[in-house]
Amino acid sequence: MASTTAGSRHWQGLISAYRPWLPVSDSTPVVSLHEGNTPLLRAEHLSALTDCEVWLKVEGANPTGSFKDRGITVAVSKALETSPDNTIVCASTGNTSASAAAYAARAGLPAAVLVPRKNVALGKLAQAVRYGAKIIKVDGSFDDCLRIARELSAHHPVTLVNSVNDHRLAGQQTVAFEIIDALGDAPDIHCLPVGNAGNITAIWRGYTAYAAAHLSTGRPRMWGFQAAGAAPLVNGAVVARPQTVANAIQIGNPASWDGAVSAREESGGLISAVTDEQILSAYRLLARREGVFAEPASAAAIAGLLAEHGRGRLDAGQRIVITVSGNGLKDPETSMLGGDESVETSPRTADVAQAMNLTSS
Ligand SMILES: *Cc1c(COP(=O)(O)O)cnc(C)c1O
Repeated sequence: MASTTAGSRHWQGLISAYRPWLPVSDSTPVVSLHEGNTPLLRAEHLSALTDCEVWLKVEGANPTGSFKDRGITVAVSKALETSPDNTIVCASTGNTSASAAAYAARAGLPAAVLVPRKNVALGKLAQAVRYGAKIIKVDGSFDDCLRIARELSAHHPVTLVNSVNDHRLAGQQTVAFEIIDALGDAPDIHCLPVGNAGNITAIWRGYTAYAAAHLSTGRPRMWGFQAAGAAPLVNGAVVARPQTVANAIQIGNPASWDGAVSAREESGGLISAVTDEQILSAYRLLARREGVFAEPASAAAIAGLLAEHGRGRLDAGQRIVITVSGNGLKDPETSMLGGDESVETSPRTADVAQAMNLTSS
């Protein structure tokens, strides 16, 4: 049957779009929410500020609101293929649990998520609750949750879907494919927030795969950014009690430490730290000037780019892609802290007009 234009426009998710690049076969049941194909937006204000060509890869547009869906679609499809009697398990600062819970629900598999008792953003928890995962609040950090999840998977019928599961990294590399497919070549620099460091590892792998297949002429420098209170890769030492407003990157002992260091070294890139103040300022700027509402962790990458520009490390004219990793709706509490400028009025038009500072004509 001849394919129609309309049919070819029906995006059916990453596994369908990038099957030859992924560890799936014809017998893998595809568990998809049609993730991927996220907007790649030209950022006019950031481009003007930096004298560069800046693009935003808006990963908050994925089905559960973060890039985690790219990895989880592959991990849960493989889990359904190879161990359909297992429970899906992950440790999470919130987004992995939302994604794992959603894809497990779609696959008809039970899921349990381990989250730190404190500091999980409300929207992320609301998602895991509604998708029906068993939520275990651990009186400890993300790093404690991951250690326990790994121990559980060694001794119980559970499939661990953290980024220590290589299927996660395989799925997450597809963002590099989408970027090259859209721009025609790799960018000069790719900026992203770094927490457990799975994503920087995966994206570097994706750029490397496309370059090896001559689908791009080169690979970008990888610029990773951590929060100053949770910057083990910058300090070169584990952080026992990581602290930051950017809860998705509040991680003291990244599982993909070596992958992050390789991505930095092989690409001639950098990993540096930004303060919570810089993160929150970039968080507001991104929404107000680019119209993109992202969660604080995502803003770390924008804060980092602006800081490097301020230090004079950014040559003019570079083509830069920033992973905008998660949706701002996930963390309504941070949005409402300082900056709620709403005004209350009576239900009278004149009072509303006055509250809006409108003059009558
Ligand atoms: C998971 C996550 C990160 C960090 O990614 P890592 O792979 O853990 O380095 C950053 N931002 C958001 C929104 C995330 O969900």
